[in-house]
Amino acid sequence: MTDGRGTIRLGERPLVMCDVDDVVLEFVTPFQAFLESRGHRLLSRSFRLHGNIIDKKAETMVDDRSVSGLIDSFFAAQEAWQKPFVGVPETLQRLAKEADLVFLTAMPPRHAKARRQLLERFGLNYPLIALEEPKGPVVQRLHNDRPLPVAFVDDMVHNLHSVGEHVPDSLLIHLPPSVAIHKFAPVAAGHVHRVQNWTEAETLIIAHILS
Ligand SMILES: [Mg+2]
Repeated sequence: MTDGRGTIRLGERPLVMCDVDDVVLEFVTPFQAFLESRGHRLLSRSFRLHGNIIDKKAETMVDDRSVSGLIDSFFAAQEAWQKPFVGVPETLQRLAKEADLVFLTAMPPRHAKARRQLLERFGLNYPLIALEEPKGPVVQRLHNDRPLPVAFVDDMVHNLHSVGEHVPDSLLIHLPPSVAIHKFAPVAAGHVHRVQNWTEAETLIIAHILS
């Protein structure tokens, strides 16, 4: 498989695949600031962006097409808005001593270059796959049944379930950010480990990949 820089070459060691938005880089919090800067506001009423963004002045709902446009504009301007959660670059550096790290980010590939530049600014120089299709088949293709442990970290339950279906032996870690809208997120199935922070995630990953 390739990322923007060429073929992703895995070593003979465990694989840790990791989502980016709201797992490595803050997403909802800077997206809210971006919306405010444009005269909008995100209401935390259900677990979706569409249907929950209002125009502050007119007090009207922003239509779905415009919401999609706002998300796209945010991704295009992400370098001015997003940054990693505190301590995450250091945690990933420690994990990278024991495993190959690959980022799997759900966004249109046209924004991958901006994302790559943003990640590199914080020393997060790991391979990056930007995709809009389900994550499970991509993890399966990359891992390719090697007899080595796999761990996957994401804040979205459907991604964790997708990877669980395609790579059943993988360690699945649900790491939701502490933002209001995630209170409405669906609950993950029993085989998914829900953690509060990266310290807990790191402990589980190390136990899994060194077992
Ligand atoms: Mg995410």
